[in-house]
Amino acid sequence: MTGRGRKPPWLRILCPEGNYGRLKPRRCGSCGRWLVSLQDGVWESYDSGVIRAGRDLTNAIILGRNLARIMWDPLLRQAYLVSVYGSCGLEPDGMYLAEHDCAAAPISVEPFRPAPRRKRGSLAGLPRLSGAQVREFEEAWNRPLKGVLTDGAGDGSGERKHDEQER
Ligand SMILES: [Zn+2]
Repeated sequence: MTGRGRKPPWLRILCPEGNYGRLKPRRCGSCGRWLVSLQDGVWESYDSGVIRAGRDLTNAIILGRNLARIMWDPLLRQAYLVSVYGSCGLEPDGMYLAEHDCAAAPISVEPFRPAPRRKRGSLAGLPRLSGAQVREFEEAWNRPLKGVLTDGAGDGSGERKHDEQER
């Protein structure tokens, strides 16, 4: 049976110790499956499988399962859950968890993977650039400065530092 047995290792990423989203890995007392639990006054429990747009999400909606969207805080590098009401909050790029139901098989057993780490100080929100694009960008970035900083700036080399986009 999916979800029973060993604790899925990715629950440590989704629910690290002391996370501010108050997510906790927990084994269901009735069916023994590993769950993602959220203590928000009462315990809410979700199957430990990430549901993405497509067949899984469609199934979840057809089956009338309550969903929570997994949000990722890029600064804290922690996940938190936001309840989904009806089709509100359903996005094609969203990741979801379905509310646990002992009688129903989990819709997904897909592990959670956080968004790739961005370098501190990089231009957040920009799409990932290739090396050539980065060089082009840097050239454009540096070009007007050399003309402007004529006095007291030496030859301008080594004056300006900024984080590279490339890993
Ligand atoms: Zn259960």
